[in-house]
Amino acid sequence: MSLDKSLRRIFLFILASSLVSAAAMLHLKWKDIKQEAFTKLEYTNNLIQTSMESVLKHQETVLTVLGKRLKELVNTGEHAKAKKLIDEMLIQNPGLVGFGLTDIKGNYILISSNLETMALPNLLKQPESAASFKKTLASNNMVMGRTYFFKPSGNWVIPARLRVTDEHGNAIAVMTTAFIYNSEHSPWNDVVLPKSVRLLIAKQDGEKFYRQYLSGISVNDLHKWINEPVEAHATQTLLSDLYEQKQVTLEEFLSSEKLFKINTTDKNKVKQILTLQYDEKYELFTLVMQPEETLYSSLTPAVLWLSIIIVAFNLALYVMLHLISKIQARSKAILEFRANHDVLTELPNRHYLNTLGDNWIANNSEKAALLFVDLKHFKSTNDFYGHRIGDALLKVVAQRLLQNFPNDIVIRLGGAEFVVILLGYVENEIEGIIQSVLTNLQKTTKINAINFNLNVCIGGSRYPKDGNDIDELLRKADIAMYEAKQRSQPFLLYADELEEKTRRKKAIEKEIPNALANNEFSLVYQPQIDARSRKLTGVETLIRWHSDKLGFVPPDEFISIAETSGTIKEIGRFVLEQSLLEMNEICDKNIKADKKSIFYEERLRLAINVSVQQLLHDDFSRFVADTLDRHGNRLVNLMIEITESLFIDDIQQAKNLLQAFKKMGVMISLDDFGTGYSSLSILNQLPIDELKIDKSFVHGILKDRQARNLIKSVISIGRDLSIEVLAEGIEEEAEADLLSEFGCDVFQGYCFSKPLNKEQLISFIDSYEI
Ligand code: C2E
Ligand code: CA
Ligand code: CA
Repeated sequence: MSLDKSLRRIFLFILASSLVSAAAMLHLKWKDIKQEAFTKLEYTNNLIQTSMESVLKHQETVLTVLGKRLKELVNTGEHAKAKKLIDEMLIQNPGLVGFGLTDIKGNYILISSNLETMALPNLLKQPESAASFKKTLASNNMVMGRTYFFKPSGNWVIPARLRVTDEHGNAIAVMTTAFIYNSEHSPWNDVVLPKSVRLLIAKQDGEKFYRQYLSGISVNDLHKWINEPVEAHATQTLLSDLYEQKQVTLEEFLSSEKLFKINTTDKNKVKQILTLQYDEKYELFTLVMQPEETLYSSLTPAVLWLSIIIVAFNLALYVMLHLISKIQARSKAILEFRANHDVLTELPNRHYLNTLGDNWIANNSEKAALLFVDLKHFKSTNDFYGHRIGDALLKVVAQRLLQNFPNDIVIRLGGAEFVVILLGYVENEIEGIIQSVLTNLQKTTKINAINFNLNVCIGGSRYPKDGNDIDELLRKADIAMYEAKQRSQPFLLYADELEEKTRRKKAIEKEIPNALANNEFSLVYQPQIDARSRKLTGVETLIRWHSDKLGFVPPDEFISIAETSGTIKEIGRFVLEQSLLEMNEICDKNIKADKKSIFYEERLRLAINVSVQQLLHDDFSRFVADTLDRHGNRLVNLMIEITESLFIDDIQQAKNLLQAFKKMGVMISLDDFGTGYSSLSILNQLPIDELKIDKSFVHGILKDRQARNLIKSVISIGRDLSIEVLAEGIEEEAEADLLSEFGCDVFQGYCFSKPLNKEQLISFIDSYEI
């Protein structure tokens, strides 16, 4: 499971934020817990302070009353009565260890019965009590003494003293009693403290502080704590914490009577939360404290819950982001596929080829070849049958290419153009490979019950011989393909000579529109002679181009270019219109009267060459009809010369077309007969008036038996089907004789006349022997 970069960043950001907010929440919670603990300590502190004060006040009242009575009784010498009074007081206050009355020098005047037998120390001379004893003499209040171990009774005790005064207010005696340290009646024992909470009652004695009471200490350990003053360092830490946190000095604290809450550390570096306040009257510090660590357990549930929530949240988030990442990756892949593939065939497209670019060839050390595959006449098929069939044909091509090249790269470049990149092929294999793919592509395919024979043309280029990058290989394969088309070959491999040709072709292609605009085209007419009467029966119109830029360009060269570039349409219109106009001129004005009979006896046939592209164009037949309406001549019969290639795509379509022309009275001649592939059997299905045997056969007629046989059989087929047979390219009388013998109907060739311009044709007719 992994996230992509941006999602990982989002995840880490949210994870960090959630951790930070969790920490913040824990911090707040911790503050709460501490606050609450402080409040509890404050409450405990106040409780202890109050209860302690009330116990001590009560004791002070008791001592005050007792003091007055004792003074009277001692003055009157009633010692026995006084002692009884003391003993009764002790019975009523069981938390007290005993009672003693001393003079101001510390000498005992009176002691409780329970202490009678014991050796009592002089309180003024004993260090633990000296200071408080002196203080008592000067104070109106009860004075608390330092806690100490009272040997006579074997108890830890906390003394309390009150002076007795005469009528002038002078001290005359001191009453001393003491609370038993761990008696249940002691002033601080009635508050039950939680285990972690500690109570310290302390007292300042001179410069030092002494512990009066410390909770949670066993009696055996007390001497360690009580006898020694609080370590100076500990006192210092506490006082500086007080000052830092509350800006209160010791003096201010002693006079403030307020409770303070502070964070501090004890001598063992354990953090403590602590409350302290001071009882001014009895000069006692009350400290209630608790180690911070004992609060941690209160934080545990919060920590636990937060951890669970954070883990669950982030886990869910991660899973979600992972899902998003997956969806993103998938849609990215789909987008990438779409950008790089053709929707119709699902083959990689031109964009893919571009991205494949140079890198691919650079990475490739083996030899390779690039094939440029084009489906011929695809546009007209598409126009005629509709796009659905056109698409289906393209799919068939794609499929068949993939059959032949399952491990290579097959690309649809656009339209009916495909590119195949073959890797690792040995040069002399290429032709064989192309042959086999051609065979596969040319197989008949049936779409919507119509049979199609795909007519493809392939141009090939080779790496590294013809180029080092895809662009160059593509360009050269394109050149080869173009040339193959011109030559009517099914395939051609690139050779350097092709490039020069292509350049010239491009120049021609560019010049044709200018030639039309500048009237650079002209027409010549080659006479056609009746084989038996040797009379002129017609002419074939042939176009001529004297280009300003390119010089004379033969039609063999530019017609095929015009066909592929589409300008053939305009050229065709020019030829039809111009030839009819010129025929009118010839007939109307320039023919000597006696020669006009040529036209009257039998109409002169005006043959024009029409390309397949022209013919298939929708409005061509309408254009012919219109032009005949406008310029038609009753002395002239129009004949169109078409080539067999028309029938390769679809015989039914051809039939419909030709019939439309027949209806207009236009005759049809099948040109270049014998050079194409169409079977003779289709001839009787089509309305053809003339078969025109190609000059390549005529040339061989005298020497080549095969050519002779072919002509013979064509002539006999023509006779069987009542189709006239014309032989073109007759250069010698002997050829004409032999053709006559075979039964040929019409002759055309240099032997009779070269193609003639209008003027020459007029004089040809004039000088013609009838
Ligand atoms: P094509 O239709 O086979 O025309 C006959 C060609 O044979 C003409 O060449 C003509 O001059 C030549 N020829 C005639 N008699 C002889 C002969 O005794 N010996 C030899 N060696 N050649 C002879 P051209 O005029 O150069 O035309 C070449 C081709 O260009 C034509 O072949 C035709 O396919 C095409 N073409 C000419 N004019 C037009 C046109 O107006 N429209 C279209 N679509 N094609 C045209
Ligand atoms: Ca012709
Ligand atoms: Ca011909």
